[in-house]
Amino acid sequence: MTEKFDLIVIGGGPGGYVAAIRAAQLGLNTACIDMTTARDGKAALGGTCLNVGCIPSKALLDSSKHFHHLNNDYAAHGINVTDASIDIDTMIARKDKVVSKLTGGVAQLFKANKIRQFHGRGRLLADRQVEFTAHDSDEAQLLHADNIILASGSVPIEIPNVAFDGEFIIDNEGALDLTEVPERLGVIGAGVIGLELGSVWSRLGSEVTLLEALPEFLMTADQDIAKQAGRLFKRQGLDIRLGTLVKSAIVEDGEVRVTFENQKGEDNISFNRLLVAVGRKPYTEGLLADDCGVELNERGQIGVDEQSRTSVAGVWAIGDCVRGPMLAHKASEEGIAVAELMAGKAAHIHFDTVPWVVYTDPEIAWVGKTEQELIEQAISYRVGSFPFAATGRGLAMGDAAGMVKMLADEESDEILGVHIIGPGASELISECVVAMEFHGASEDLARIVHAHPTLSEAVHEAALHVDRRAIHRGN
Ligand code: FAD
Ligand code: NAD
Repeated sequence: MTEKFDLIVIGGGPGGYVAAIRAAQLGLNTACIDMTTARDGKAALGGTCLNVGCIPSKALLDSSKHFHHLNNDYAAHGINVTDASIDIDTMIARKDKVVSKLTGGVAQLFKANKIRQFHGRGRLLADRQVEFTAHDSDEAQLLHADNIILASGSVPIEIPNVAFDGEFIIDNEGALDLTEVPERLGVIGAGVIGLELGSVWSRLGSEVTLLEALPEFLMTADQDIAKQAGRLFKRQGLDIRLGTLVKSAIVEDGEVRVTFENQKGEDNISFNRLLVAVGRKPYTEGLLADDCGVELNERGQIGVDEQSRTSVAGVWAIGDCVRGPMLAHKASEEGIAVAELMAGKAAHIHFDTVPWVVYTDPEIAWVGKTEQELIEQAISYRVGSFPFAATGRGLAMGDAAGMVKMLADEESDEILGVHIIGPGASELISECVVAMEFHGASEDLARIVHAHPTLSEAVHEAALHVDRRAIHRGN
């Protein structure tokens, strides 16, 4: 017999599980199918983000940051520690505990919201039917719903001649579960994952080399910020080699030999472990039956309109498997918007104000356009900036590298972009997102009272500096 629901969500990541909760709040009889299985054989909701992405990477970033500060920065505060050591097993076990607490929390939220959880694979058939195969069975069960959300997420890209083996040549999952600090860690790709996970192992003592194909560092970030970041990361010991295109990698005598091409020609380098972090691609394997009507675009993404509708009525798609940035908060907001639209409410997402954060030390965060984009698009602007080194709070903390840079429309003064590298950038960016959502001007932020002493004073001063009236720097 076909079981019927108002909504079936395929995928329980930050897109899918959030959509399911919002739909249930709105009174829809909701089911969510997710196939992730934890080491104990049980379902683990939360997708890439909770299991092998945002959360475990931040847990390791925090552990390794404590260790790094202990060894490098605490002496300046008069705190002397000799023979500090790191117990990798304990660090990894703490990370796993954080993950299971959160995945278990989502399961509890499902129960509280009366969402039916199906542990296994979902496949979209024609006529809004879904075939469900439990994780521990081959038998398929038919489900039907008025609405279906596809939220199947993404997987790492594998490059030709560099095959993952799970031991020497690894992806994000492998790099989150190393049992010892590799003496030499190679990373292909100096993007977000390469920088975050490269930082983790570098802080713990690994010699980390990042091989990046592009000639410039962090091309998607504002280049003033990227340049500062490049200098700071170099000082931290990250060896970032730009213009280096990896061609192949082979495992030989317990090491990985990587062949690459740069301006000087072809060369090779050996590592104990190699992390491949060259981007992610939408995951749709086994998701769509031939006659289901949903189509993929030329980039392998599920084709959707601005409101996440696929070409089939009642079938929606959100998160990493569709267009737009591959970010957890973007996936979740799409999930909420779709649930509200199907419940007859109005919903809209401003893709222009989705913030980006790179959780290195210092953190990098931005929203809106970069200065390069404004120049390319011939938009006239004014720029203000302020260094954390001129804030009382940054100096008191002993953490004052970096700056805030604000770009505002030359005529209207509307804020067009804010770019931060520095302590607490991930939190500071929220104020700027709010200002931009309300079409705020730099003058608005300049006139808002910011508590003293806080890091947010750097945002305030950057706003004042747009009009060349910053107090604590020359204008
Ligand atoms: P996913 O989280 O990938 O979830 C999809 C789920 O669907 C998975 O559980 C999958 O198993 C399941 N699934 C797929 N197909 C089927 C099927 N046919 N049947 C049943 N289940 C299925 N983003 C941030 O915003 N901040 C960060 O700090 C951040 N850090 C990251 C760090 C790393 C190392 C990585 C890899 C990613 C990080 N991301 C971060 C990106 C973030 O994880 C993704 O953007 C986010 O998880 C996308 O959510 P989603 O729901 O679209 O897909
Ligand atoms: P990325 O796109 O950020 O970086 C990949 C890098 O690899 C690029 O700079 C690219 O030029 C380089 N590259 C590609 N092929 C190469 C080759 N053959 N040789 C050398 N370099 C090569 O991708 P990622 O770091 O894998 O992360 C994937 C996505 O996951 C991100 O785009 C982001 O959406 C998400 N993510 C977000 C966060 C966060 O929000 N803090 C953290 C991690 C991941």
